[in-house]
Amino acid sequence: MTLTAEERSIIMESIRDIPDFPKPGIVFKDITTLLGNPQAFDTLMNHLEKRYAGYELDYVAGIDARGFIFGAALADRLNVGFVPVRKKGKLPYTTVAEKYSLEYGFDEVEIHIDSFGENGLCPSGTPAKVLLIDDLIATGGTAKAAASLIDKVGAECVEACFIMELGFLNGKEGIEAPVYSVLELD
Ligand code: AMP
Repeated sequence: MTLTAEERSIIMESIRDIPDFPKPGIVFKDITTLLGNPQAFDTLMNHLEKRYAGYELDYVAGIDARGFIFGAALADRLNVGFVPVRKKGKLPYTTVAEKYSLEYGFDEVEIHIDSFGENGLCPSGTPAKVLLIDDLIATGGTAKAAASLIDKVGAECVEACFIMELGFLNGKEGIEAPVYSVLELD
């Protein structure tokens, strides 16, 4: 399931580049302009809905914070549950956490231990099928940590989906699950 050239350009042109944010040398991909453009947002969500309609997902898990927006909208369209993968210290119940390296130091993401049911199992006894989603994959550190959290609680990450992939950073190589990126950027 791929985008038509027209759909691709509607989505691509709705994303704004902010040079040197949050620090010199980084081109920040600003998706607030996509969200504020109903035609672009709907084109993207229609595409994601079509792609994942046949995956028989049980949950969509979105990464803090922009992954929440796309993930929650997609979960609602697919009529499945939504699970937030949060930065450390935000979730109130018992959590499972995973650290990952940043350029300097480390960060940590966590989910509730019962996010995907007890032991990550569906009522039928099979591991819950989870789609992981975020706005962008750069080095892949955040997504790798999030995918391993899904594993840790007993569920199955069936795919990791990104609106944008910075291909030159090869971030998807560290992720065990299949990776789908709507837009691959050079
Ligand atoms: P990484 O762990 O290096 O793959 O970084 C991915 C996370 O950082 C995602 O949650 C993105 O939202 C954010 N991110 C990294 N680089 C950029 C960028 N150039 N523009 C926008 N967001 C970015």
